[in-house]
Amino acid sequence: MVGSAAVRHGLSAMSGTRVNRRQFVSVSVAAAGSAALCCAAAIAQGSAHGVGIGGGFAGATCARQLKRLDRKIQVTLVETNPTFIACPFSNAVIAGFRELSAQRFTYEKVAADGIALAAARATAVEPGARIISLADGQRLSYDRLILAPGIDIRWDALPGYGEAAAEQMPHAWKAGDRRFCCAGSWKRWKMAA
Ligand SMILES: Cc1cc2nc3c(=O)[nH]c(=O)nc-3n(C[C@H](O)[C@H](O)[C@H](O)COP(=O)(O)OP(=O)(O)OC[C@H]3O[C@@H](n4cnc5c(N)ncnc54)[C@H](O)[C@@H]3O)c2cc1C
Repeated sequence: MVGSAAVRHGLSAMSGTRVNRRQFVSVSVAAAGSAALCCAAAIAQGSAHGVGIGGGFAGATCARQLKRLDRKIQVTLVETNPTFIACPFSNAVIAGFRELSAQRFTYEKVAADGIALAAARATAVEPGARIISLADGQRLSYDRLILAPGIDIRWDALPGYGEAAAEQMPHAWKAGDRRFCCAGSWKRWKMAA
């Protein structure tokens, strides 16, 4: 994953460039080859730095696997939140069968694997310079980037339906306490209806 075109150029792809499956596969294969060569050279010099943005299932798993592949690779995981709130089993929390605390996970084991944690929001990626800016003012350089920020809700996507309306009638839940707050609103709305 670290060597794929989607990872190397994740932001460009997200900003609207459309490629078909065949183009994506051929670009990915080519990029994986050149990435392997570049990374091998950087590792040989003992300087390879892999950075992951997003400490969810995808980002944390990639970061740990990268470190397991080669301990010499320096790996940094950038994550906004100090604890991760997992979505699977969250329906049991809403139904009162499980405590919200059981859904929370720290990054201690990730750090114990030798991964550096940057507890801040990534605000920009400069793919040409291979630099990430963080909300706290830090700038991290990288050799390979894992982009795994998950999904988010675009409140301006539907005219007339925004954050305030979602309090009354949520259509989806974002991971975290808000999901459960929303669920509470939804229950109240349902009972009142
Ligand atoms: C209610 C619910 C129930 C679910 N149940 C299941 C289930 O039972 N089984 C299952 O397989 N899947 C389930 N899923 C789906 C599963 O949770 C997702 O597929 C999974 O979380 C996606 O992982 P991810 O790492 O891509 O993103 P996420 O888990 O969303 O992680 C993304 C991380 O990136 C961080 N981040 C985002 N932007 C930035 C930034 N700019 N800088 C730094 N960090 C950033 C976020 O804080 C977050 O920690 C469920 C989802 C929901 C909503």
